[in-house]
Amino acid sequence: MGLLTGKTALVTGASKGIGRAIALKYAQEGANVAFTYLSSVEKGQLLEAELAAFGIKTKGYRSDASNFKAAEELVNNVIVDFGTIDILVNNAGITKDGLLMRMSEEQWDDVININLKSVFNLTKAAIKTFMKNKAGSIINITSVVGLRGNAGQSNYAASKAGIIGFTKSVALELGSRNIRSNAIAPGFIETEMTGELNADVVKGWTDTIPLKRAGKAEDVADCAVFLGADMSAYITGQVLQVDGGMLT
Ligand code: NAP
Repeated sequence: MGLLTGKTALVTGASKGIGRAIALKYAQEGANVAFTYLSSVEKGQLLEAELAAFGIKTKGYRSDASNFKAAEELVNNVIVDFGTIDILVNNAGITKDGLLMRMSEEQWDDVININLKSVFNLTKAAIKTFMKNKAGSIINITSVVGLRGNAGQSNYAASKAGIIGFTKSVALELGSRNIRSNAIAPGFIETEMTGELNADVVKGWTDTIPLKRAGKAEDVADCAVFLGADMSAYITGQVLQVDGGMLT
């Protein structure tokens, strides 16, 4: 028996990186896994086959998390295909970095829509099912940058800080319905998103981390298993940092 046996999860942005690692760990722990991708169609299709090998029910959907109507349609389709949703992981995210002086309105809007509005879209669509079930776990992927800010990432930091405020508000609104809402704040995790950084920047980050290494997507996925499972039943409204002690 896995830690998530009998549960159905919806994970956004699982074609690569942290979302992909969460989908794989969830399947390994026995969850049925619905997941989304947007531009990485081939990677999304390959993941569906990989997840199916765990003997669970799985399906990938091409869906833009920043689109309100698309999120509603997605959740409706998942309910038709899987019967229910027990865990929602809002993971889809992007960066469009630049100093504020040079940041365009488009850079701002894209990051806020894909990182923050997506969390509203999916959560709003999924809570009807959670309320019916009188249970649900919402896990939002924020960032240490949302806690402390970062030069050159004012759009990203704002979107991630917004996620924290949203997460806590949902925990307060829906706790009485046994719906939990938590956030994970990863630090510096090796994925395609951080793969674009040059070696000096990476060394600069890892030198300041007490555990002296970058995190792996699996480190974040382990935390997502915990927050999705019943062993975190009394935890809501929290931000768990998976950052090697970076902000300590
Ligand atoms: P990544 O490797 O670039 O993966 C991002 C995922 O999001 C991809 O699967 C991508 O799918 C999906 N996505 C992007 N826009 C989307 C949209 N509009 N609708 C649906 N899916 C969309 O990034 P990552 O490093 O794994 O990051 C995952 C999450 O962790 C993000 O929220 C990020 O902000 C957060 N995070 C990452 C780090 C880090 O160090 N890596 C640190 C803190 C927080 P397609 O490619 O198919 O479009």
